[in-house]
Amino acid sequence: MTDHHLHMPFTGNPLDRASERRGDHGWLAARLAAPDSRYLCLYQTRPLVAASGDALVWLSAEQIAGRAAAPPVLLGLDGTGRAHFAVDLSTGPESAATALAGPGQFDDLRRFMAGLSADDAAIAAQAKAIVDWHGRHGFCAVCGAPTAPRQAGWSRHCDACGADHFPRTDPVVIMLVTRGEFCLLGRQARFPYRFFSALAGFVEPGETIEEAVRREIHEEAGVTVGAVAYHACQPWPFPSSLMIGCFAKALSEAIVIDPAELEEARWVSRAEVRLALDNDPAAGFTLPPAVAIAYHLARAWCDGRG
Ligand SMILES: [Zn+2]
Repeated sequence: MTDHHLHMPFTGNPLDRASERRGDHGWLAARLAAPDSRYLCLYQTRPLVAASGDALVWLSAEQIAGRAAAPPVLLGLDGTGRAHFAVDLSTGPESAATALAGPGQFDDLRRFMAGLSADDAAIAAQAKAIVDWHGRHGFCAVCGAPTAPRQAGWSRHCDACGADHFPRTDPVVIMLVTRGEFCLLGRQARFPYRFFSALAGFVEPGETIEEAVRREIHEEAGVTVGAVAYHACQPWPFPSSLMIGCFAKALSEAIVIDPAELEEARWVSRAEVRLALDNDPAAGFTLPPAVAIAYHLARAWCDGRG
């Protein structure tokens, strides 16, 4: 898929995660050693990308031998059955990792995600999120003892207390609130000049998606919301979010912002949103680029799909 205006990066991962094989030690050992298995290296959660910035660099088991800071994580199998792993090289100096990189470079996924193919972007997101999780969860959240990877990197086990820990995904609701021909956009103080986006916030424990949407909109903008409809979602590995895109119908218009969350919120017409999506300066504001689900929510609304 090459139409960046229709495809959301990080969705559509082509790999078969083979989750039923993760506990099969013999199978895993054979895949780890197989000459056709592919390894995506990360240094401090930055994936190895080609110098051109438009493709991931895959290395062989032989090339990464002795370099891994932790057991590789099985990402999955491609259509030919070839195993793909993510491997963290963060132990030791960056120069050692760079020596392995050849002409490639370890770079922040945010910086090059827009240039990757849909497949590479989705795999990079998976690899970045799971390697980052291992880096943050070396100790048991129950008893504080060290933990070790299990299940081909899809859990960590604490020998001291027996607890198993699983990779986390943090649900975030992001919603375009509409009222007739207008939608509600907001900007945080840290946003670039004139940049507006859909409002968003983390789903809290014991809360439904719809409840989180209503709470966040009321907290941040003082607007009351009725019907909420799910639209689409996007993995967002910074570090481990799942962006849950929704449309929400406003029941009130008056805006009262929470200045701790937003610098400004305003109702914007569909015509103005169309201009902003097309980067027309006449809009007077800018919207997130097509890599972000906020763009797709706005586009869908303008196209009558939301
Ligand atoms: Zn423990």
